[in-house]
Amino acid sequence: MYLFKNLFSKPLSVPLSVTSNNGFHLRPVAQFATLAKSFPCQITATFHNKSVDAKGVNTLLSLSLEKGDTFILVAKGEKAEVALEKLQLLFETLMQEDKEIQKIEKSAYSYEGSVIEGEIISEGIAIAPTYTYHTTKVQHQSEMDFRTALSQSTKELETLYRNKEDDENSAIYLAQKELLISLGTHCQTLTELEEKVEEESRKLVGTKLDTKTSDYQDILQRVKKHLGLEIKVTFPDTPFILLCNDLLPSEIDQLQQTKVEGVILKETSMNSHTAILLRASGICSLIADTQNLVENETVILDTYSGVIIQDPSAHDLQKARERLSKESVQKALSAKKRFEPATTQNGRHIKVFANAADINTAKAAKEEGAEGIGLLRSEFLFKDVKPSLGKQQNAYKEIFELFDDITVRTLDVGGDKALPYIQIPTEDNPFLGIRGVRLFHTHPELLEEQLLAIFLAAENKRVKIMFPMISSVEEFKQTKSFAQSVAQKHKLDISHLHFGIMIEVPSVLFLLESFNDVVDFYSIGTNDLIQYLFAIERTHPLLKADALSPAVFSAIEIILHKATKPVSICGELAADKNAIPKLLDLGMETLSVSPKSIAQTKEEIRYV
Ligand code: PEP
Ligand code: MG
Repeated sequence: MYLFKNLFSKPLSVPLSVTSNNGFHLRPVAQFATLAKSFPCQITATFHNKSVDAKGVNTLLSLSLEKGDTFILVAKGEKAEVALEKLQLLFETLMQEDKEIQKIEKSAYSYEGSVIEGEIISEGIAIAPTYTYHTTKVQHQSEMDFRTALSQSTKELETLYRNKEDDENSAIYLAQKELLISLGTHCQTLTELEEKVEEESRKLVGTKLDTKTSDYQDILQRVKKHLGLEIKVTFPDTPFILLCNDLLPSEIDQLQQTKVEGVILKETSMNSHTAILLRASGICSLIADTQNLVENETVILDTYSGVIIQDPSAHDLQKARERLSKESVQKALSAKKRFEPATTQNGRHIKVFANAADINTAKAAKEEGAEGIGLLRSEFLFKDVKPSLGKQQNAYKEIFELFDDITVRTLDVGGDKALPYIQIPTEDNPFLGIRGVRLFHTHPELLEEQLLAIFLAAENKRVKIMFPMISSVEEFKQTKSFAQSVAQKHKLDISHLHFGIMIEVPSVLFLLESFNDVVDFYSIGTNDLIQYLFAIERTHPLLKADALSPAVFSAIEIILHKATKPVSICGELAADKNAIPKLLDLGMETLSVSPKSIAQTKEEIRYV
């Protein structure tokens, strides 16, 4: 009966109008296609007599939908009605939330040298010789076949997206992942993928999405790298201002490790992923025509005023240096302050710790003034292949050496985080399934090896070990006694180590009296606690729980009131300036936040 209904059901349709000034561009398209893919029915988008699959990023992009365009979304088959309803809702939300990048107002300037005007991507001042971007091709041995390279690249983009989930730019990686899936599905060889990229890029020429071709090139290079065909960009090891037509989004990370002072791009737009990432990196950058600039010539890049001073006079240089030193004095002042403790107006010292994901973020946390690590997400070690005991031990050791106070969380996968080498039976509700500490019931060998690595790396250090997703006292006791048996088996003394739990499951709130007898500490994981309090998936594309709801603060109040062991908070709420005064008021003494939020969190505390 059901099949009959579906086979003969009429397609349903809904008109959708693009209202964002940015058009229907790659990031919202990726979110839209991701949701469309979750429905079994056939979904198409029709615009100007052209119908395309609405589950594909590149097919949707090929419609080149701009502000004012209306396309028809058609669904046919199982769950067509609900698919249309949800996609319409998502589309409207995406249109409303799509921020238009505002042009940055230029401040007045007066320079004596000749001036090239441009459009400001990110403000700052740089004085350095120019350096023209160029690449070299490097070939190395690779045994990998094309399809594996494709799936490795997809996984990398997924990981980048997940790792940067807290970052507003993470959708760039989701978009690139979806794009790669769309383009790669029917390709069997690299040549086919190259042809496809070429064909799709051609379609974007002259449209508002023109600059997205750098995303196409970026994903192509990612695949090629796995096949041993790497394109290397080299940068000088002295300060420089980079001149280039365009940069690939993935090259910005690399650029940040160099002595770059500024970037001048010729062919990009304020909305390109390259521009978004440049802004986020804080590198002063401009869009301008650079054809009159000569290689290795000292110029002033003044992106407060949106200009390049090509042949600066001595007076121009002095003026720019003064401005630069004012800027660096300000930076130095706040940098200095971020190493100072965060003390409230009435003299309470609040510890600001970092959430780290690997050695790099742990080092960044130190640089940013973190007083310890409140949450080390150990998943980073496990993502592609199962790490050996030695690899784990070395990684932990390197991080443990950075701080005196470190909390390492045992592997927390399941839910939205899968491990490619672990089979978990398909679950209807993965967030309510084998997640966090529950994985160790099915895979105790993983926990055994991880605990041993932590014990060996910690040696005599008082490291704190934290179990995620604990929901009952029994579960904690069993896991802790498992840890003790691992230590015994290897004749290790772990009496100096502390064992605690993440508070993420609401049941813990009602069991705190009993937990007090067995745990050494608590850390509130508000990201998950909120999802379970409101029964709204944290990754849901349409629904979003209110993190500032009184229900959340009541839960925290109960915890702080009942707990007799130290409590900290490591969910995103800890860095929310609207939550900080309330958290401190409730008695919270330790906040653990992402490295980039440390200075600002400390500053917020100083005003409470
Ligand atoms: C949390 O749930 O708040 C938390 C910090 O853990 P994660 O975001 O890694 O699930
Ligand atoms: Mg969590």
